[in-house]
Amino acid sequence: MEGDAIWWQEGVIRAVATAAELERRVPSRVPRYDLPRTLITPGIVDGHTHFAMWAQGRRRVHLAGASRRSEALRRVAGGTIEQGWLRGHGWDANRWDEAPDRRSLDAVVPAPVFLESVDIHAAWVNSAALARAGVDRSTPDPVGGRIVRDAAGEPTGLLLERAVDLVRAVLPAPDPEGLVTALRQAQADAHALGLTGIHSMEGPDALRAFQTLERRGELRLRVFFHPPVAQLPDLLRHQARSGEGTGWLALGGIKLFLDGSLGSRTAWMLEPYEGGADHGLPLADTANARRVVEAAAGAGIASTIHAIGDAAVRQALDLLAPLPSAALPHRIEHFQCVHPADLGRAAAHGIVLSMQPAHLPADVALAEERWGARSSRVYPFRSLQESGAVLAFGSDVPVASPDPRQGIAAAMARVAADGSFGEGWHAGERLDFESALRAYTVGNAIAGGVASRRGRLAPGYDADLVVWSLDAGVARGDWLAVREAQVRLTVVAGEVVFRR
Ligand SMILES: [Zn+2]
Repeated sequence: MEGDAIWWQEGVIRAVATAAELERRVPSRVPRYDLPRTLITPGIVDGHTHFAMWAQGRRRVHLAGASRRSEALRRVAGGTIEQGWLRGHGWDANRWDEAPDRRSLDAVVPAPVFLESVDIHAAWVNSAALARAGVDRSTPDPVGGRIVRDAAGEPTGLLLERAVDLVRAVLPAPDPEGLVTALRQAQADAHALGLTGIHSMEGPDALRAFQTLERRGELRLRVFFHPPVAQLPDLLRHQARSGEGTGWLALGGIKLFLDGSLGSRTAWMLEPYEGGADHGLPLADTANARRVVEAAAGAGIASTIHAIGDAAVRQALDLLAPLPSAALPHRIEHFQCVHPADLGRAAAHGIVLSMQPAHLPADVALAEERWGARSSRVYPFRSLQESGAVLAFGSDVPVASPDPRQGIAAAMARVAADGSFGEGWHAGERLDFESALRAYTVGNAIAGGVASRRGRLAPGYDADLVVWSLDAGVARGDWLAVREAQVRLTVVAGEVVFRR
């Protein structure tokens, strides 16, 4: 960047120059922010989020890691009642001394309480919740489920498998206003992390909530919305096109799944998993998927395809390569394991690769165990960059933290979560700071079809930017310094939305 100062007006960058020069040019009534020893970057865009899910989940009680029942109850007591219910998730009673039961919950919350277990196969509820659902000693166990009962035959408050549905059926429908409030709060937290935009992979409820925020003039994140493929008939009927919308909320592509994930052993692989005969799980019929992406592209709608295993990655490339381009580029989500023969294909066809480096630390051990030697082609950031492909980075929040510092540091370091591979796992695939930052800025601007006005700090570009306190060691590859960086100022459309 030329200069050390930046001037914006009415949401648009006017000049990037030296502070002395801007001091002369800019009218004195324009407010000044003097932030010595900082770095100004374009606003960070998270290229893959489930933002509404994150926003809503954060308001419920988190029980993950509660090592005893009393700890879980303490957290429940501090929870918030929403639509008359207190909800939470994540408890795991395997090592608890005391069983989850309704009476202990009754003692801390009189309103109905519904707490899902970590694997979502059980629920812990209180007496008020059982009463709402009409469950008592006379209720028979449903097929495929069990209402756990005490010696006297009374339900204890623990419901297993299909019995959970007895209470789930009486939970209030999602409250639209509650979701809007949750989004507003999550937006403020995103600003504090330096985020000025997101790509959101969610359904119609989330879209309506974003639309409500925008209508009220409260949307201060640039949102590209990628609806599920099930919405395609609706989109075609309304003649919607990718890229359409406003400066705040625009339509991305339709989201399709070709496989599952490494963690659940459902990523679809060309060769079997190590020590087994299974290839994972293809999720789409090729002919059907082809019809869908062709119909979409013919109507100007891009495709956003989830592919993790090398077979799914190849199928995604096969599907997208022959398509005419829409207003936005077609893209592949995750692109985790890539056969060497496929490395250059995304670049050759202008397909954007939406990747999540913050998943890497947790995936190292699993990839080594399940994919063996194929691990050398997992998250091949550097090879893909050198092939000329556009990398667009994101977090997949709530799967990983939306903090972009974690993603940038993970791309620079490639160190496993347990600290192993300290020199970098397949270290040749590490990125430098500039490249990782570019994937969060320019890369996501290209993915949104807005590279001519976002993703850079230059006159005429939108004034979406972040000011960081950042150690100079970052430029020499010190990824630990990235994790300690502080956001000092976040600006969206020229408005200061966060300041520290
Ligand atoms: Zn996702």
